Amino acid sequence: MSAALAVPLPTRPVAGSRLHVDLDAVAANTRLLAARTTGALMAVVKADGFGHGDVAVARTALAHGATWLGVTSVTEALALRSAGLDAPVLSWLNPVDADFSAAVGSGVDVAVPGIEHLDAVARAGIGARVHLHLDTGLARDGAAPATWTALCRAARRAERTGAVRVVGVMGHLACADTPADPANAAGRRVFDWGVAVARAAGLRPRHRHLAATAATLTDPASHHTMSRVGAGLVGIDPSRTTALSPALTLTAPVVSVRRVGRGTGVGYGHTWTAPRETTLALLPLGYADGLPRAASGRAQVLLAGRRRPVVGQVSMDQVVVDLGDDHVEPGATACVLGPGHGGEPTAAEWAAWSGTIEHEVATGLGARSARMVRA
Ligand SMILES: *Cc1c(COP(=O)(O)O)cnc(C)c1O
Repeated sequence: MSAALAVPLPTRPVAGSRLHVDLDAVAANTRLLAARTTGALMAVVKADGFGHGDVAVARTALAHGATWLGVTSVTEALALRSAGLDAPVLSWLNPVDADFSAAVGSGVDVAVPGIEHLDAVARAGIGARVHLHLDTGLARDGAAPATWTALCRAARRAERTGAVRVVGVMGHLACADTPADPANAAGRRVFDWGVAVARAAGLRPRHRHLAATAATLTDPASHHTMSRVGAGLVGIDPSRTTALSPALTLTAPVVSVRRVGRGTGVGYGHTWTAPRETTLALLPLGYADGLPRAASGRAQVLLAGRRRPVVGQVSMDQVVVDLGDDHVEPGATACVLGPGHGGEPTAAEWAAWSGTIEHEVATGLGARSARMVRA
């Protein structure tokens, strides 16, 4: 652990739990991802940097090989500008009445998924920089392929009037976390077709980006001129092919310790009953802090040198840990989640215990905990 540059950002009154963000890990992950592509690297810091702090992750990524920033909303993009970040920023998901004038005025690029958005952006200011967004297989954001040719032609007309400049074309892959999935090749083909259609319409998009973290790590044919990586920056590899460095550590202090007799029911619904006399430790965090309640009955924490089971239901703001015949003093620190180097559970384990993915664990914790940024 290197020297602490501590920036506590309490989002609700917390009782001593701490979420530490290891920016050295973010730096190492950025360098690794940058080395895996010949294209540029866009650091995706949506959802407050996947719960790790958007500005801190953005600054770190830009210092270690990323040259672009990416977020969903214009609001997030403007917050990065307010924090003094002047790198190119792309915002790709906005309602049609979003403040595109503010985006254009702050030099924020916006993605356009259809005619309505194109018109709204064209009205917002002279020379808006747009990336046309093609749906390459999720039936989610992005223009349906059936509407793409018309969108490209309309964009070219808007470009001729000076209203917009089409600087990019983007797509996204549905199944990149499973490299062998045929949907990846299909998505790449749709993207290649989409770029060809844009060119045929007279557009000259400099930035062509399809790959996110998984495809950046596993699928060079998808790299084009840029990759948009988010999860990988903070140590999450959806493809499970590469050793990245998890950046989150969550600790909590022991509030109290008690000895209980055999048969003692613990927590709501008495879903766990002490099978013998044992010692229980109380930690002051729960699902309101982003600890998944669905992990009840499976979760563990590292406390007093060993993995210990969390017993009973995860409550809104407390969990109980079974110490057996061991003892700790109130004030001892439990490691709830971390990179795993010291034997603590990882975000991947918490995700498995609760039937979700690491992304959801990280964003859930990050939105709610006091956060310490470690530089
Ligand atoms: C979130 C997101 C990304 C980043 O994906 P990761 O798998 O986290 O790297 C890239 N592009 C789009 C459109 C996204 O929504």
